[in-house]
Amino acid sequence: MPLLAGIESGGTKTVVAVALEPQTVLDRIRIPTSADPTETLSAAAEFIAAQVAERGPLAAIGIGSFGPCDPSPESSTYGYVTSTPKPGWASTDVIGILLRQLAKRGVDEVPVKFDTDVNAAALGEQLYGAGQGLSSLVYLTVGTGIGGGGLVDGELIHGLVHPEMGHIRIPRPVAEIEAFAGVCPYHGDCWEGVAAGPALGARWGVPGETLPPDHPAWELEAGYLAVGLHALVCTLSPERIILGGGVGSSENVISRVRPLLQASLNGYIDSPAITHNIDSYIVPPGLGDNAGVTGAFALAEQALAESAD
Ligand code: ZN
Repeated sequence: MPLLAGIESGGTKTVVAVALEPQTVLDRIRIPTSADPTETLSAAAEFIAAQVAERGPLAAIGIGSFGPCDPSPESSTYGYVTSTPKPGWASTDVIGILLRQLAKRGVDEVPVKFDTDVNAAALGEQLYGAGQGLSSLVYLTVGTGIGGGGLVDGELIHGLVHPEMGHIRIPRPVAEIEAFAGVCPYHGDCWEGVAAGPALGARWGVPGETLPPDHPAWELEAGYLAVGLHALVCTLSPERIILGGGVGSSENVISRVRPLLQASLNGYIDSPAITHNIDSYIVPPGLGDNAGVTGAFALAEQALAESAD
């Protein structure tokens, strides 16, 4: 069996794992995503090389990365983190640095597939989690930021760059516009600027996770998520929406979002999935915290299959 490496590279931490098949993690480490990409990626390479020494040759690598990044294989900067505001990481050749660090440790070059962290999670959920059997879905994480990925007609969504669902503009109650300007450094009160974890902290003066479940913050939060999801339902027509992240996957939030999305759409999208089966239309990740790393393994499998073509 070929050894697969999966890397879930987030803005604050990086998870590196190995598996023989995507659903079973053999071993993993969690390392800080430091301000020095070479330091972070050499720690990842060190772990993978040790796993290769123990378990046998590496077959392929899948990487789900924070962004903005370049997930287009035909591009000259494929596998780069591009214009990210994260210090030290702008214009970083993630694939190139990782492969060089592996070569230094005696691990031969293998096929690599690179995509956004949220597209990787969407793929993991589609193949092995809450999206099985579907060809179109959205995976939205609401935590330290808002990020969305997904598939349309069986293909992960790419484009000019990649979707930046967290930065769409959403309608806001007038009183809220006056009360809170939002925290996105680029847009102020875009979706992430009013509805991600840091926005909750800034809006209410305490960390979101300390707000009691019946605090008015949660109905406002659910309202923001519902109107943003309204836009995604009308543009991408997903067959299911998977809500992940520390804020998004909480039952208190999801159970409030469902009726608010139905109310916002107001019967216009005339599908039983929304009008009658909303509880199975908006769901938490079936893979829990493993969605990203499972998706990274699935990307590795795709890299292996494509290299054999
Ligand atoms: Zn923004």
